[in-house]
Amino acid sequence: EKGLDIQAIRKHFPVLEREVKGRPLVYFDNAATAQKPQVVIDALINYYSDYNANIHRGIHTLAEEATAAFEGTRDAIKEFINAESREQIIFTSGTTEGINLVAQTWGRQNIKAGDEIIISNMEHHSNIVPWYLLAQEKGAVIKVIPINDAGELEMDAFEKLLSEKTKFVSIVHVSNALGTINPVKEIIAKAHEAGAKVLVDGAQSTVHLDIDVQDLNTDFFVFSSHKLYGPTGIGALYGRKELLEEIPPYQGGGEMIKDVSFTNITWNDLPYKFEAGTPNIADAIAFKTAMDFTKAIGREKIRQHENELLAYATEQLMQIPGLRIIGTAKKKISVLSFVIDNVHPQDIGILLDNKGIAVRTGHHCAQPLMERLCIRGTTRASFAMYNTKEEVDAMMEALRKAIKLLS
Ligand code: PMP
Repeated sequence: EKGLDIQAIRKHFPVLEREVKGRPLVYFDNAATAQKPQVVIDALINYYSDYNANIHRGIHTLAEEATAAFEGTRDAIKEFINAESREQIIFTSGTTEGINLVAQTWGRQNIKAGDEIIISNMEHHSNIVPWYLLAQEKGAVIKVIPINDAGELEMDAFEKLLSEKTKFVSIVHVSNALGTINPVKEIIAKAHEAGAKVLVDGAQSTVHLDIDVQDLNTDFFVFSSHKLYGPTGIGALYGRKELLEEIPPYQGGGEMIKDVSFTNITWNDLPYKFEAGTPNIADAIAFKTAMDFTKAIGREKIRQHENELLAYATEQLMQIPGLRIIGTAKKKISVLSFVIDNVHPQDIGILLDNKGIAVRTGHHCAQPLMERLCIRGTTRASFAMYNTKEEVDAMMEALRKAIKLLS
């Protein structure tokens, strides 16, 4: 079978029909959040117009329908990342909450003064700050895996950081600023040999790579729906069952308990122990629609298409004098960061927006990474299933004009 029918795919995304500054929108900010297909938008509308109800407790028809749809997403996530059981899938508001949950539960229970937590030099702030907060509270130490100039982890240095003091390794699977795919399976195996637990930040990887948490043998895996063509405000945490059973709850409230008195409270079973209060029902339901949508189109075909765009855009960009691509790892996904001599990324961003082209500029929530690379920020184009070579050409033309104007 042939590749994707991009024009047919584009018809599923209503926003792609709009104009920006009098030009057809070119949306290259997919690593920040992906656009939503009509089926996902419809799933939200259908929930609110047909069967809006609170879940789990109700015995009426609407509550049963809403509960079935909500729990159906949990099953879909289990399949999507090949988890052992549905009890190990905890709904969160996204990657950020997933990391905070693990830091505040497993971390507070297990990290002591002098213990070491390893992260890397390419982490998103959401995989730095929760560990910083924990380290401050406990007197623990954060160690950082260095990177080379291509934006790849220094694996030898990682092995040297590991010791009996290492209690936790929290690592990004794919860098949002560079596109680098990290060898997380190897990192997990090495960390386990040292007796440490591991969390993988899958915010950027789940949309591009096939995820198998059992094959990775990870202790925790977190990701967000909105990078996967689903709604914002919903995501998931996968955890190893024994760990989820051992650690204390994250937030207290309804739904996460079995019995409550003023002197004694017993926790609900997994996964509900970690889901206090009324969850984000509508967005959870529509998240399944998003996963089904990408699977129906074909994740391998999408990946091939995005890789072709990446190769094409990389080749085009390299022809621009004074332009340097930031993130030249051998293994990367369709994220393309670059800097141009004597031109500020923000100026590029504004001039591209004037032509209807949406890119991201700045530090990409990875200030320590920018510091390591001795840059203040980059311009980042990131591609999704609906992007085309013609759109890359439009960006190249706008970019050449912008550079001419700015230098
Ligand atoms: N980690 C990485 C690598 C990311 O790209 C992002 C989102 N930019 C996050 C974590 C945080 O995800 P969210 O904002 O959806 O919680």
